[in-house]
Amino acid sequence: MSFLSKLNALNLYLSGLPWLFRHFFQKKKVTILMFHHPSPEYFDKAITALKKRYNIISLSRFMDTIPADERSLPSYPLIITLDDGWASNYALLPVLEKHQVPVTIFLMAGMADTHRHPWFSEVTNQQKKQELKRVSNTTRVSTLKRMGFTETKEFDDRVVLSREEIHHMQASGLVEFGSHTLFHPILPHCNDNTALEEIQLSKKKTEELTGKPCRFFSFPNGDYCERDIRLCKKAGYEAAVTLDVGYNSRNDDPFRLKRISVPDEASISELLVKASGFWAFFKVLLRKQKRSRRHSGL
Ligand SMILES: [Zn+2]
Repeated sequence: MSFLSKLNALNLYLSGLPWLFRHFFQKKKVTILMFHHPSPEYFDKAITALKKRYNIISLSRFMDTIPADERSLPSYPLIITLDDGWASNYALLPVLEKHQVPVTIFLMAGMADTHRHPWFSEVTNQQKKQELKRVSNTTRVSTLKRMGFTETKEFDDRVVLSREEIHHMQASGLVEFGSHTLFHPILPHCNDNTALEEIQLSKKKTEELTGKPCRFFSFPNGDYCERDIRLCKKAGYEAAVTLDVGYNSRNDDPFRLKRISVPDEASISELLVKASGFWAFFKVLLRKQKRSRRHSGL
């Protein structure tokens, strides 16, 4: 984030607009945040600030409440999720225990407990990485192969959680694990067989790793199509999280749960602006404005 954006975040925070968002939209609706690999020091500060403004609940609690009564949820309910299942997440356990807050971690199930690396961390050129997210899955895989990378290649270092770490975190009663596919492809660019494998086998693999039913799925990069939703239902998931902007209620489709992406390192004012959803709405609004200006020839 640039200095200017940081300054904007602080100004926005001080303007009170995020407060209004929290008060009017987030009181009754469920907000879901997405982190990746925050440091324990930052996560501690983030949780402290979020706990003052929200009631942190687990994704399971929200899903278990849906058929019953939403009123049984506390006001300002907030769910914390972490995507990818990075090894560094293990160091967050003491923070979770200190604050007694639950989280859901979505594992790249084909990589957990191995020395495999996700493809996107091996492509250092940002433009190339974005390009690879746009091409068909077979093109992405063959391009990576030419670059010397395969999904099952074992590296010297382990960057994702091990089985032991997963078990230890799960035993705290504060961490639940979901699936984030096997190898983090962009699902809508996969053919039917690969999409089925990534969605179905990753559920089995996660269950094998945790010894518990894998109830939830997270779409890599937030990308999904109707077929992927169908496959998630068929595989037996109960819900799936996206990166569609907004908040959630019991009437919403559980396979299109909206999430707000928050930074792994930021000032607390920036985190709170983003967690309020204000920043994401602001960005969507700007994008729409730009598009309508383009269409009207301005
Ligand atoms: Zn991911």
